[in-house]
Amino acid sequence: MQIDTYVVSLIRVLGQVAIIVYAYSWVIRIVERGALKSVAVGLLFGLVGILSMGDPIRWMPGVIQDGRSILLVLTPVYGGFLGTVVAAAMMSLFRFMVGGMGAAGGIAGIVVVAFAGYVLSLLPRQWVGTGWRRSSLFGLATCTSIIVLVFLPWVVARELFLTATLPVTVVNILGVLLLSDLLEREQYRIGIQRALENEASLDPLTKLPNRRVLQREGDRCSKDAGARRIPFSIIMLDIDHFKKINDSYGHSFGDTVLARLADVIRQTVRKTDIAARYGGEEIVVLLPNTDTRAAVVVAEKIRKDIEAAIVMFGQETIRVTVSIGIACSLEPTTDFKYVLEAADKALYRAKAGGRNRAELAEAA
Ligand code: GH3
Ligand code: MG
Ligand code: MG
Repeated sequence: MQIDTYVVSLIRVLGQVAIIVYAYSWVIRIVERGALKSVAVGLLFGLVGILSMGDPIRWMPGVIQDGRSILLVLTPVYGGFLGTVVAAAMMSLFRFMVGGMGAAGGIAGIVVVAFAGYVLSLLPRQWVGTGWRRSSLFGLATCTSIIVLVFLPWVVARELFLTATLPVTVVNILGVLLLSDLLEREQYRIGIQRALENEASLDPLTKLPNRRVLQREGDRCSKDAGARRIPFSIIMLDIDHFKKINDSYGHSFGDTVLARLADVIRQTVRKTDIAARYGGEEIVVLLPNTDTRAAVVVAEKIRKDIEAAIVMFGQETIRVTVSIGIACSLEPTTDFKYVLEAADKALYRAKAGGRNRAELAEAA
């Protein structure tokens, strides 16, 4: 094999590595966890495995190598059981379709390596370790692909064992080290990015979006309301006599009540609604694509759910109520700031009117 052929092979392998790292990063940014992520990772690893099988490196006559073992042994780590089944099934089907003398052995190799990776992925962390040690173990697990030799005629198997085992194993181990390092870095980077985004947009106590997010989404709704006459509504609520809760049970219990209240609201509103912590114990729910009548129904449901919720202080059952102001865009303006002000005024009337009630903003 000429040196330039090696270089071309290396570039092709790096291309496959780039595809997998970029696509994996994209997948974990879109789907955080669950079966969908497993299947997506399985499809990705399976697809790149097939690409690599269709374009192997020819080390020397009779000794060829592709990236299937490297990918398969790592699929369980990133794609779990489901992802492993998907990737192994894809590669097996491809190997079956290619056919030839090595088909049965090839498929057996795929299944065995995937299984070895899966078993390793189940072992406790203190056994497998982390970083380089862990990656080296997964790299060594690719040796199980040697099963392929059992399916070949004795003379061919002996020849292959003597010539190919060492270089193929070394390259597999190096490949696992490189790919797992890149994927770990990507996971770490996305994790940090997500944590920073959360920190910048979520209120730490209630885990509700903060005022900045509310403003951004409110402006977006304002635009839709102005341009396309799609209404949005705002529900502003404030806990009744919250100072008393703090004074009687302490500020930390007050915090617990606030967090509980946020949970109740989260469960009551739709996924598309945005409940944000607006101020100390004031929460604003932005309801996109919602007119006044629907908003009144939601507000009343929130009020009743909060009234029914209990928080325990030792053996004592504590209940709180909220007062609510409701305003809808379109009449008289679609400007988010004014709709918010209208809800605030309505809230003030709800307080003045006796609390634990919802008031609708007066038409201007
Ligand atoms: P009203 O029915 O008129 O709303 O009475 P209120 O006592 O709730 O009065 P107000 O809304 O003015 O009081 C807000 C209180 O909420 C004051 C403050 O101590 C408390 N508060 C604001 N933010 C927090 C917080 O993060 N944690 C706790 N524990 N208390 C908070
Ligand atoms: Mg208040
Ligand atoms: Mg209050």
